[in-house]
Amino acid sequence: MSRKLASSRYEEIKALGADLIEDYEVVYPLEPFEIADVLGVHVAIHVEGLPVTAQRFSTSDGYTEPVASRNGWKFRIHINGSTPAIRQRFTLMHELAHVWLDHLCADATLTDERAEGEANFLANYLLAPDALVVMWTPELSISAIAQVFQMSDEAAELAHGRVMRAVNRSAIGRPHDHRIAASATRRIEPPAPGLSTLLGLA
Ligand SMILES: [Zn+2]
Repeated sequence: MSRKLASSRYEEIKALGADLIEDYEVVYPLEPFEIADVLGVHVAIHVEGLPVTAQRFSTSDGYTEPVASRNGWKFRIHINGSTPAIRQRFTLMHELAHVWLDHLCADATLTDERAEGEANFLANYLLAPDALVVMWTPELSISAIAQVFQMSDEAAELAHGRVMRAVNRSAIGRPHDHRIAASATRRIEPPAPGLSTLLGLA
């Protein structure tokens, strides 16, 4: 996660993340394909690795291709499907963060470095927002965050650091935290087969 952004920008990005979670009633553990769907973004997974045309994007993980359509710009995200699933999950959220933050608009003025910092921050934040980390992993351990929010240990460590900074600055409980706590839900695990099913009564 880049530390080059101003702290006010981090708060702005958190609020933009809350908008997305609230508008689309996001369910956790977050499923990046569902987010792509609601945003109308097409996702192509390249199981053999990214196509050669990707070389101009200087990435081996994924990139977003803007496509002109009758209704304005549409986006097509390309993901390297030969990397571990947990990495693809983060890459897709990173690319969706670029879309949500309007980084790909013709009039975007951010430097590449800053845009990358913002996308990494928002991707990590959406996967494990401060308010949900505090509510759902009260022990605040990296391993619990990784498990509950389905993140790599590395991404969970970043989320953990971000949440600890917010807690230490008494910066939890901001309006975006309340909005996220009120609108995000947890995916219900399929119930274990009950006795009636086991006995063939269901
Ligand atoms: Zn990027």
